[in-house]
Parts: sequence; C-alpha cells; structure tokens
Amino acid sequence: NRRMHPQDTTVEIAPGVVIGGKKIVVMAGPCSVESREQIIDVAKHVKEQGATVLRGGAWKPRSSPYSFQGLKAEGLELLHEAHKETGLPVVTEITNPKNIELFMDKCDCFQVGARNMQNFDLLKELGQTRKPVLLKRGFANTMEEFLMSAEYVMAGGNENVILCERGIRTYETYTRNTLDISAVPVLKRMSHLPVVVDPSHAGGIYWMVEPLAKAAIAAGADGLIIEVHNDPAHALSDGAQSLTYDSFQETMTSIRRIAEAVGREV
Ligand code: PEP
Ligand code: MN
Repeated sequence: NRRMHPQDTTVEIAPGVVIGGKKIVVMAGPCSVESREQIIDVAKHVKEQGATVLRGGAWKPRSSPYSFQGLKAEGLELLHEAHKETGLPVVTEITNPKNIELFMDKCDCFQVGARNMQNFDLLKELGQTRKPVLLKRGFANTMEEFLMSAEYVMAGGNENVILCERGIRTYETYTRNTLDISAVPVLKRMSHLPVVVDPSHAGGIYWMVEPLAKAAIAAGADGLIIEVHNDPAHALSDGAQSLTYDSFQETMTSIRRIAEAVGREV
C-alpha cells in the first residue's frame, strides 16, 4: 500500500518495456490466437503502429462451452513464434495453476482474466514466480477486492503486478461493460502499482475503443490493452470490439496527442 510505497513502482515486462514510467505502454493483438499466419501478421502490424507488447489468448474462458475455447498449448507456441519473429514481448491469459510451468518460457507476462480475479490458488501460485502478472479486475469486484487479489500475488514475493481496469457490470446494457474510469485515479492513489485500461472489453464495440482509450490516458493510466484483428468480421472471439489495422493506427495517433497533453508519450 501507499504507506510502504510512497513512490509508484514500475514493472518491466521485457528489457526496455516498462509499465509505469513516462512512456505509456500499448499492448495489442487479437482476442484469440487463431493461426500462425494470423498472429504473426497482427504482431507485425501492431508493432509497426507502436505497440510494444503483443496480446493474444490461447486459453479462452468463454461464457458458453460451445464457443471457441482457444488453441491452448499450440496457441502459446504460436505466440512464442510471433515473439521470435517480431521481438514483441507477449502477455497471455493463464486460467489454471497447473499450466504455469508451460507458460514460463513462452510468455513475458501472465494475464489473469476478470473471471479469475479471485482464483486465489492461481494467484498464490503466480506469486511464487517472478514473472509479471497483468491482473484484470473482476466485473463485479470492488477496488478493495481488486487490490486484495494483487496482494495475494505480492504476498508470495512477486511484486511485478500490473492492475487492469476492463469495465464492470452495471444496469446499462448498451455497452458490454461500463468502463469505471474513476478506477484509474483511485487505484493510483490507493496503491503504488501501475494501472492499465482495457477499452476493448469495456465498451465491447469497436468505435468506442478510441474515445475510451483517450479517456484512460487523460485520467492517468500507464498503459492500454487493445484488441486488434486482421479480419474482425471473421474473428473467432470478440470480433465486434476488435480494431482493424487502420482503426488501430488512427487510435494510436489520437492517444499520442492525449499523452503529450498530459506530459507523457506513447
Ligand atoms: C481478454 O482479455 O480477452 C479477456 C477475456 O478479458 P477479460 O478477462 O477482461 O474478460
Ligand atoms: Mn477478448
């Protein structure tokens, strides 16, 4: 907490890729890894536009058991190939502590999804590693609960935790979730950890990503995690909220302006 850490801490995902510094880190990529061609193509494009971390899901926790569940170990391997091809560090979701060993050499940052924010066995096991953890806020969890989940990881000795606000469930149905923009200043005040925002899962529709991303940077977020797809209309998951390469480029241009206005850079 703040008493023990008056200074903000930073998390280094890979050499030179630091979350929580002057530079705003953009993590981008598809919701799910779908094929070798897809993930390598997306990785190259987002890198070209200024993203410094590649995202992509291999294990996908879906609401329906009949929806695409991810390529699993093969997807993880393809992410690693995309990393070797582009140099981008990789963040990918882990859903079960039994897979930690497998993930260790294949990614640079664990993602804990909203649905697993209080999977305490998973959090405790991740706390035994020293690999960064991007912890997403559960869609019905308070900030206090969110911070306690971060403590579960840190209590094991792994202080490389990045908080991620990705929208919460409210009475509003127009948006997929309601982006709790106040989480940014509140979390930054209550904790020393870097805070990133996921405008994709918050809005749930592609045209909302850019304005929500701008709001996040203006509110003080240290980074963004954005879904970008080579062909959103045919995506195996979250196509509606995925940006095309062109719209990602436009989004990067407009967030650079906001970053500059608040004394930071993308
Ligand atoms: C994701 O990042 O693809 C994802 C499943 O996010 P969340 O856990 O926030 O729903
Ligand atoms: Mn998704």
